[in-house]
Amino acid sequence: MARVYNFSAGPAALPLEVLETIRNDLPDWRGTGMSVMEVSHRGKDFVELAARAEATLRELLAIPDDYCVLFTQGGATLQFAMAPMNLAASGDTADYVQTGSWGKKAVGEAGKFCKVNVAADSADRNFTYIPDPASWQLTDGAAYLHYTPNETIAGVEFHFVPECEAPLVVDMSSTILSRPVDVSRFGVIYAGAQKNIGPAGLTIVIVRRDLLERAPASLPHLMTWRAYAESDSMTNTPPTFAWYVADLVFQYLKDGGGLAAMAEINARKASKLYDAVDRSDFYSNPVAPAARSWMNVPFVLADAALDARFLEESAAAGLMNLKGHRSVGGMRASIYNAVPEQAVDALVDFMAEFERVNG
Ligand SMILES: *Cc1c(COP(=O)(O)O)cnc(C)c1O
Repeated sequence: MARVYNFSAGPAALPLEVLETIRNDLPDWRGTGMSVMEVSHRGKDFVELAARAEATLRELLAIPDDYCVLFTQGGATLQFAMAPMNLAASGDTADYVQTGSWGKKAVGEAGKFCKVNVAADSADRNFTYIPDPASWQLTDGAAYLHYTPNETIAGVEFHFVPECEAPLVVDMSSTILSRPVDVSRFGVIYAGAQKNIGPAGLTIVIVRRDLLERAPASLPHLMTWRAYAESDSMTNTPPTFAWYVADLVFQYLKDGGGLAAMAEINARKASKLYDAVDRSDFYSNPVAPAARSWMNVPFVLADAALDARFLEESAAAGLMNLKGHRSVGGMRASIYNAVPEQAVDALVDFMAEFERVNG
């Protein structure tokens, strides 16, 4: 079997062990004689799976009891709207810290539902840093403060949790499960599954229970987090296959030592890759060192005329999906949990050899 090293930003690599389990399970899941895709989400087998997935996720992230875990759809992008819909009345102000393209999209959606104050913005330097929290212009009595702990496109990550009166609402799509986090510091954490959790189509939302009360009665049922919280996320048919795969990924992470173990590996992977980028002027990364992402490592070649050759030869070497986002150019290696350290080692070796030949 020819598996390549997949550096896709999302949908992204899944652990081979998980794929093999899926292959085995597929025609006859749990002795039902059916695949998991063909059974009722309200049947005993699926309900058990769903509960186990939530329990394992709770264990991995040490989610306190006063938080609910929702399995929803619509991606992080729908949460850009659901956060203000559920948390802010139209006269309220929500604060946003904008450190990249995803945060900017979240700002755009929130503006349809409430007043938005962009408390800090790093667009002036092309989203390559995080403005010092001491400079943030926060609103007294803000409904919440939203930020993006990891901006997937420019590769900018918060390596701290800011202090704030208002509940913190965060888009963790591309960093969730990459390391332990103190969930109790946040009001709401949401993440599309297709980076570090499982297949596209599932969105995890972790909400402090008291915040569920804020949603106005006029909201459509499925636009309220409360609807999911009150029905174990089965108010309508959930994305059962994606939920099943997420459960397998959670088990895989737990068996691998949990998030502390992942953090150690992820820190090492990232540092190997940044070292390779920093070693010479042939490659560079513009992000402030303190804000460099562990998960998404963009880098450019000093001579952009070599980009096409780099991509062609890296793909021929089994290093796939390294093309950078069009807004940044160059390359981007996404090195989520499921991208093994050997993949990073192979990329680092390829980069050195490519520089030797073309530098
Ligand atoms: C990928 C990504 C999104 C978009 O997610 P969808 O699930 O496609 O809506 C939003 N925010 C961040 C940080 C992302 O990485």
